[in-house]
Amino acid sequence: MQILRKSGWAGFEKTLKMDRKEVIKKVKESGLNGRSGCNFPTGLKWELMGKGVRYLICNANEGEPGTFKDKFIMEKNPSLLIEGIAIASYAMGIHKTFIYLRGEYSYLKPKLERVIKQSEEYLKKINLKININLGAGSYLCGEETAIMESIEGKRPVVRQKPPYPPEVGLYGKSTCVNNVETLANVPLIFLGGWNNKLELYSLSGDLKKPGVHEVEGGIKLKQIVSLAKPKTEPKIIYFGASGGCLPYKKFENLSVGYKSISEQGCMLNGRGLIICGKNREIVELSKIFTEFFLQENCGYCTPCREGNFRIWELLKKIGCRKGRKSDLNLLQKLAYYISDTSYCALGTSSTNHLKCALKYFKGEFLKLCK
Ligand code: SF4
Repeated sequence: MQILRKSGWAGFEKTLKMDRKEVIKKVKESGLNGRSGCNFPTGLKWELMGKGVRYLICNANEGEPGTFKDKFIMEKNPSLLIEGIAIASYAMGIHKTFIYLRGEYSYLKPKLERVIKQSEEYLKKINLKININLGAGSYLCGEETAIMESIEGKRPVVRQKPPYPPEVGLYGKSTCVNNVETLANVPLIFLGGWNNKLELYSLSGDLKKPGVHEVEGGIKLKQIVSLAKPKTEPKIIYFGASGGCLPYKKFENLSVGYKSISEQGCMLNGRGLIICGKNREIVELSKIFTEFFLQENCGYCTPCREGNFRIWELLKKIGCRKGRKSDLNLLQKLAYYISDTSYCALGTSSTNHLKCALKYFKGEFLKLCK
């Protein structure tokens, strides 16, 4: 696997011989895009940073259900991540970086601290301090401004944008947020022989070989799924909880990429694929995903807080065979109202799974209704 290559700080040493602008230019030319939800060009993000005190935040709050590739990197090759953080900090002229680590990954904190300590001689060269901030397990803290609120010691809610983090970020200063996989790829760009197309996918569900797989982007859905050896014939693929879902048979030949998946009305997010076999019931799956959003919403706005609860009630009713066909119209309306009127991306994406389920598997809902 490319992501398991050891750099031994050779990439970092090369960047020190370069001007900061040259480092950013090289990252831009490499075509490295954010390896989380937005797929934003990394070099351009670095270039947008303001002047004065600046911060880098490494987003290690990997909370999307079915996504665990960042955990894989921090477990198997943490020094590559720390080196990537150092290169990014050098390129942006940053002297303080925060790793925002998901609460459930607390066991990784001592390991990361150890690697940071072992890397002191390199970090000193650019006068860089790396802090590890442990989250409390909130899904919402995958969002960059919610992370900033949390680091500042406040309740993590999403900030209104604009202003964007490069203008006003952590403690009101210009801030760049990159995720773990993005930063871990940075040293490889400077080492040479880096393949931009190789990406990590987390595969889980009804599989004999769930886990993290490194494949070239654009690979067909059926090729990715076959790597994980399904236990039964796959029926439906979920792109995390918030990215929606597609019926496997209809889309098995679809090339997997941010663009191709969004053209189907879904989002690839952190490339976590949950593969559900033929024996799974769609109404039950929809209820499970709705329960996730019920638990994770912050309660700030009514459409997300109350709407998802109403959806859950209706799904429960339909699952118990007490629903009516007219309930499906209500479900559909609620799903769109919530995504159109919620305050933040958690709410606006919380019903994607249901919208897709109603689009492709309406018959299964109807079968359970009177
Ligand atoms: S959409 Fe509203 S209730 Fe849901 S998480 Fe965002 S702010 Fe909170």
